[in-house]
Amino acid sequence: MPYNIPATRVLMNNLRQVMAEDGDTRSRLDHVVRLIASTMVADVCSIYVRETDGALLLIATEGLKPEAVNKTRLAAHEGLVGFVARTAEPIAIEDAPRHPAFSYRPETGEDPFHAFLGVPILRTGGVTGVLVVQNRTERAYGEEEIDTLQTISMVLAEIVHTLETTPAAQQAPERKVRGPGGGNLKGRIFCEGLGFGRAVLHDPVVPAAKFFATDMTAESERLNEGLIGLRASIDRMMLIDGAALGGDPRDVMEAYRLLAEDPSWAEKLHEGIRSGLSAEASVDRARREHRARLMSARDPYLRERLHDLEDLDNRLLRVLGGEEGKPKIKGDRSVLVARRLGPAELLEYAKSGLRGLLMEEAAASSHAAIVARALGIPAIGGIENLTTRIEQGDYIIVDAEEGTVHVRPDDVVYDAYKARVGLRSERQARYAALKGLPAQTLDGTHISLMLNAGLDLDLDMLDQAGADGVGLFRTEFQFLVSETLPRLDDQITLYQRVLERAAGRPVVFRTLDLGGDKVLPALNLQREENPALGWRSIRFALDHKGLFRRQLRALVRAAGDGPLTVMFPMVTVPSEYHAAKALLLEEIAWSARQTGKQPSKLEVGVMLETPALGFSMQDLAGEVDFLSVGTNDLLQFFFAADRMTPSVSERYDLVDPAALRYLKMVADTCKAGNIRLSVCGEATASPPVALCFAALGYTSLSMAASAIGPVKQALRGVDLNAFRAGLFERMDKPNGSFRNQVLALAAEHGIDTADS
Ligand code: PEP
Ligand code: MG
Repeated sequence: MPYNIPATRVLMNNLRQVMAEDGDTRSRLDHVVRLIASTMVADVCSIYVRETDGALLLIATEGLKPEAVNKTRLAAHEGLVGFVARTAEPIAIEDAPRHPAFSYRPETGEDPFHAFLGVPILRTGGVTGVLVVQNRTERAYGEEEIDTLQTISMVLAEIVHTLETTPAAQQAPERKVRGPGGGNLKGRIFCEGLGFGRAVLHDPVVPAAKFFATDMTAESERLNEGLIGLRASIDRMMLIDGAALGGDPRDVMEAYRLLAEDPSWAEKLHEGIRSGLSAEASVDRARREHRARLMSARDPYLRERLHDLEDLDNRLLRVLGGEEGKPKIKGDRSVLVARRLGPAELLEYAKSGLRGLLMEEAAASSHAAIVARALGIPAIGGIENLTTRIEQGDYIIVDAEEGTVHVRPDDVVYDAYKARVGLRSERQARYAALKGLPAQTLDGTHISLMLNAGLDLDLDMLDQAGADGVGLFRTEFQFLVSETLPRLDDQITLYQRVLERAAGRPVVFRTLDLGGDKVLPALNLQREENPALGWRSIRFALDHKGLFRRQLRALVRAAGDGPLTVMFPMVTVPSEYHAAKALLLEEIAWSARQTGKQPSKLEVGVMLETPALGFSMQDLAGEVDFLSVGTNDLLQFFFAADRMTPSVSERYDLVDPAALRYLKMVADTCKAGNIRLSVCGEATASPPVALCFAALGYTSLSMAASAIGPVKQALRGVDLNAFRAGLFERMDKPNGSFRNQVLALAAEHGIDTADS
């Protein structure tokens, strides 16, 4: 067969012309199969598209009987075509009828053909069809032919895709870019709310118009420059201050760099250009292959490597696209769709306004999820195969009240959604009316409702939600969202801004809580078997005194001669508290000598996150001003259920007799030792949980802004003494689901728990 790279190029050139032609998709496809068959000297060239049920329909052919078009339909796993679709890998066979997967369809007249070459048509990672060439004679197709057909199938993917776009859909672009009915996807709620808008894919999309190289030399140079840019960006990431922190093993980043420098990857990309693709299209082709392999790979190690490769492809596409390659967020009408997303990236998108966020990543405590909550963007995560189910521009309803995503909803679903948005705003208006009122129970107990924050933009919420102050300021966020480690001055500036914006309301600064799920690439922490139980939080801070002292210094400097409240995370034994507090006092003394200023009032507290500390609180009486329960971590340690593992993270409830008895014991010890009681963490966002804590004597509850309204409403409607009596009675004699018992109790007290 007269086959070589220039022949591929001729084919690509011809294809480019076909793409540019006017005319309907079907006639284009007929044109394409003729072109492929003649250039590759094949007797047959056929295209099958995958339908929603997985069946493969013959939609164009040169060489098989024309009557078979739109008739021959192979079940999902039927025949060699089904085999290619299932494995997402090309297959070349010399004598197809002898292959066990062969399935004979008389209507096609394919009996005389022996040699078979099939490649998957891949789009956004999923198989959308199969491209086949066949020859009468038994022959072996070469590597280059397989490669060419794969390249062509990528172009075909774009043509086939337009088949789905009906003319009617094109005329009504408002909600029907691909026509309604993309189905529903399920996931975990990261930030509650409802949103609607057009999908913007975070991973770069290469438009079909950019597939072909007009000047091969120029494309090769662009690719080389792109690769240099990519390697430099990885080197920069590796250089960041890691050495100064003593975090030695950099194997993860090193592996990443090795991949980026792998000559066979670069060679494969250049090969794509030689066959007529643009630099972007060549990278896109590699990405589709990696994605397809990832989807069928089961081995965790292999999956991890393929993820890395796909990340590299995406990175390189961003480098090649420069500014132009960035996804465009249009005003506030977009829903961002991402496999994974860094917090800094999300912040960047959010500047242009976002209606929703969807992620494949499953951890509700991932940083992007936390930032989404800070910004109040309805968000759902843990959606399997998300990025293969949604296309750029699809209309999406993000129902982050139910954890459902409606892809290209029909009018009925859309109208129901609009009605719910109306109801939601009525509820919000009721909460807004409570803003200036205290969270005081019917029998006169005042509870402070505070805000959980970590970014200065969170502080907009202080007034909006009517919070009494900031009960948890997660200082590590500044570290997590910046590319390099924040310097002393950066830290001072942030803390001063926070204090200014709090305008006299109390702010509890929680010192650096790194490690566990809060991993800083710059720190190159060692990979641990159980990061939640590992070298994290106060343990890590006490072992990195330079870093820790710099932060304490920044806090003291920011406070000047005003009040300062500091809280240490994950203290497990009193000695950790003593060591941390001693460092803080040293910094105060040092600053006083340097600046002549020291905090007018100093309050120092501990977070109760490990059960052990609860049994040591009596030993800290007189030394600790307050205790704040970090429910997120406490829950995972109390019930031994990793908060990052979806199958167990929501299995246990804090509204449980064992947990409440423990929290009561801690409250009683603290009251005896004159230690103030508060709670931060996500649990108190639920009104029944907030009521339980209030009943146990915790008088300050800190939560996300969106929870303040509902919790205040519940507290203002309860007679706390009576509720407490009922709660204790039930704790003594639990019976069935304890949450249901508590909900029933709340209902008896007239509390609306419909949303709990
Ligand atoms: C907690 O563990 O409850 C907490 C508030 O800390 P973080 O969620 O930041 O670990
Ligand atoms: Mg914690």
